[in-house]
Parts: sequence; structure tokens; C-alpha cells
Amino acid sequence: MAELPVTGGRDVHTVRFPAIPPPQSVDVLIVGTGPVGLATAVELTARGVRAAVVDRARAATLVRAGATGHTPRVVEHLRRWRLLQRVRDAWTYPPEWNQDTKLVTSLAGHELVPAPRPSFTGRGPLAGHSSGEALRRPQTVFQQVFLEHLAEEGVSISGGWALTSLHEDPDTVLAEIVDVDSGERRTVRAAYLLGTDGGSSTTRRLAGIDREGEHAGEKRLRLVVRTGDVSDRMGAAPSATNIVVNAEASGFLAAISSREWRVYAGPYPLGHEPEEAELLAVARAVFGFDPGLELVSATTFHHATRIAETFRRGRVLLAGDAAHVRTPGGNLGEGIGDVVNLGWKLAAVLAVTRPAATVAQVRPTTVSEPSESGASRLGAA
Ligand SMILES: Cc1cc2nc3c(=O)[nH]c(=O)nc-3n(C[C@H](O)[C@H](O)[C@H](O)COP(=O)(O)OP(=O)(O)OC[C@H]3O[C@@H](n4cnc5c(N)ncnc54)[C@H](O)[C@@H]3O)c2cc1C
Repeated sequence: MAELPVTGGRDVHTVRFPAIPPPQSVDVLIVGTGPVGLATAVELTARGVRAAVVDRARAATLVRAGATGHTPRVVEHLRRWRLLQRVRDAWTYPPEWNQDTKLVTSLAGHELVPAPRPSFTGRGPLAGHSSGEALRRPQTVFQQVFLEHLAEEGVSISGGWALTSLHEDPDTVLAEIVDVDSGERRTVRAAYLLGTDGGSSTTRRLAGIDREGEHAGEKRLRLVVRTGDVSDRMGAAPSATNIVVNAEASGFLAAISSREWRVYAGPYPLGHEPEEAELLAVARAVFGFDPGLELVSATTFHHATRIAETFRRGRVLLAGDAAHVRTPGGNLGEGIGDVVNLGWKLAAVLAVTRPAATVAQVRPTTVSEPSESGASRLGAA
């Protein structure tokens, strides 16, 4: 019998990007198939704009994915794109696990105080501001759902192509991209180029846009650890999202699959490289017992605040982490906000500046999902 994967069959471990050859010309070339770039393609395509996406990577992986908590505003955008139910359906850990966020001494320890689920619908000062509930899904789920939708829409997505240079004239921007394996070079002509290529954006650098803000004075690590089979120790419905506070460790402990959890370690001095044993000791302390841990990945991140001096220079635009980064937790939501703000404006400008044949009829996007009425409350921010 085939062994069940660690995700219990809900496998978004690796999201592969299509390898469609990039087009020669397009209305908007999007650089980066991160969640913000793909969301832009969804928004623009819904508005009849021809978009194409390139990324130097060929895949995204769950173990490196950042965002898992999404605000009601993001949920509203997913609903508007008619993609909310698909995202909700894409569980990466068993849906029967406890969905609240618990403030605990460790996973095996006791609850400190009941942490109310942040709600924009029912209670608190923000009551009534949204009909959406905050949602927890790894950002790779967004990428998977966006890619499936864009494939249905026939949008060109090219993994393995890196942006290397830009040239702008009054009517177009020419982007030189290179196949990261073969070294083949191509030029894509676009009316606009959108850089959604992350915090160290090549687009931003090529456009000569500086950033300002605060550098971090220390670093943190996001660990992904894999447990042995500890279902008898954790019970049938362990708490999937926990804020842990104890004498040895503090921070989030969040499930990303049935046997993989995200743990935060640090802060550490910038020059310190913690040993694996040190990191596993932190992970054991947040579990409160030794679940036979294996370290799957350790990724450095910083609590820093950086913003581009402008989000647009000529025909080159920035969105998402390419435009702004801050302490993790919400930055993806702000990137999706960028996209929704930008989408209708770009579509409107293209509609008046491009020949009618190149900009298709604008299609309505504000439609609720019929299948949502019975949806349950699915997760905290
Ligand atoms: C530990 C941690 C936890 C977080 N938690 C949350 C959370 O709970 N909620 C939230 O909203 N946000 C959260 N964030 C932030 C969130 O992960 C980011 O805001 C999000 O990934 C930004 O998406 P993006 O599409 O802008 O960029 P990215 O996801 O960085 O994607 C950029 C893409 O551009 C590609 N690329 C780069 N250079 C080139 C090039 N030259 N040519 C072609 N392609 C290129 C890369 O390969 C990559 O695929 C968290 C971040 C961290 C680190």
C-alpha cells in the first residue's frame, strides 16, 4: 500500500509554475509568480487586460512560504474573484483540527487565557466592517488556486525566466528575460511592466527606485519541523495555531500539514548562525514534549520596514514586497490591496491608450460565490 504523504493527501508542498514560452508582446508583463503577481494576473484578466507572468523560479514550496494568516479584506477580494471557495477547500492540515488561536505554555501545556478570535463581523470595535472572516492558508495555496484559474483563462505563465534588463520608450517597455537553464534571451514588449518580484526586487533596481526605512538590528528564523506519528499524544483535534509563551521559547507554533509545523526562533544577533541542535531545542520547548522532531528548513527573516520611494517610474510599476516590506504578518494582504487598487486603473488607462483590438471587453468581477452560504468559520488571522 502506498504511504500517505505527510500532508495527509492535501499536498501543496510544491507548486510548479507552467513553462509556457513567454509571449513577444503583451499589455502588462508581470515579473514574479508570487501570490501578489498571480493575484495581479487574476485581477487584470478579469478586466480584459492581456497579462503574462514570468518568474525565475520553476516552483514555490510550502516549507518556504511566508504568509498563512489572511484578513477579512483579503477574503473579500478572493470572493470577488470567485476563488474563495477553492482556497477554503485547499486544506493543508486536517480540517477537524481546532481552528482557534490558543495562547498556551506549550502544545502539551495549558491555555494561559482564552484568545478571542479576531472578528470583523461579530464583535469588538471593528464589528460590521466586513462580511468576511479571517482565514488561515499557506500562501502556496493562493498560488495553486490562482495558477489553476489562470490556466483556465489561458494566461501565459513562464517559470524559469528571469528579468535581467529593462528599456523604456514613450509607448512601450522592453523587458529582457533569460531562460535560467539554457541562457536563451528574449525580449518582451509591454505597455506596462509590473514588478512583483519580492523584497530584493530586480525590477525596482533596474528602474532606479530606492527604498527608505529601517533595517533590522537582529534576525529571526522561521523553522519548519516534521514530527513523528504523535497522534496519540496530540489527540484527534490538536490546536493548529498557537502562541506559545514559556521560559525557553515564545512565538507561533502553527501547523502547515498533519506532520509539519512552523516554529519561530530568535531573535538572534545578525552575525549568529544557530546550530541545528539549538533550533531543535526551541522547537521541542514549544511542543512541550519531544515529538521526534526533524528540521525540514530554517529561513532567516527580519523585522524590518522598507518602502520604495515611488511605486511607479514611467511604465514600470511595483506592488507587493517589491514595493513595501514590514514586520511579517499582513504584508501579503497589503500587496493584494495594491493589486486591486492598481487593476482597474491600469485597465482604464489601457482602454483609452491602446487600440481597441488589444484590450478585450471589461468583464464584471463583483460576484459572490453561490457555494459559500453554508461555509463554516475556518481560521484566525
Ligand atoms: C515568516 C513570515 C511570515 C509571514 N506571515 C504573513 C501572514 O501571516 N500574512 C501576510 O499577509 N503576510 C505574511 N508574510 C509576508 C508575505 O509572505 C509576503 O508579503 C509575500 O510573500 C509577498 O508576496 P510577493 O508576491 O510580493 O513576493 P514573493 O512571494 O517574494 O514572490 C516574488 C517572486 O518573484 C520572483 N523573482 C524574483 N526576482 C525575479 C527576477 N529577476 N525575474 C523573475 N522573477 C523573479 C521570485 O522567484 C518569487 O517567486 C510573512 C512573511 C514571513 C517572512
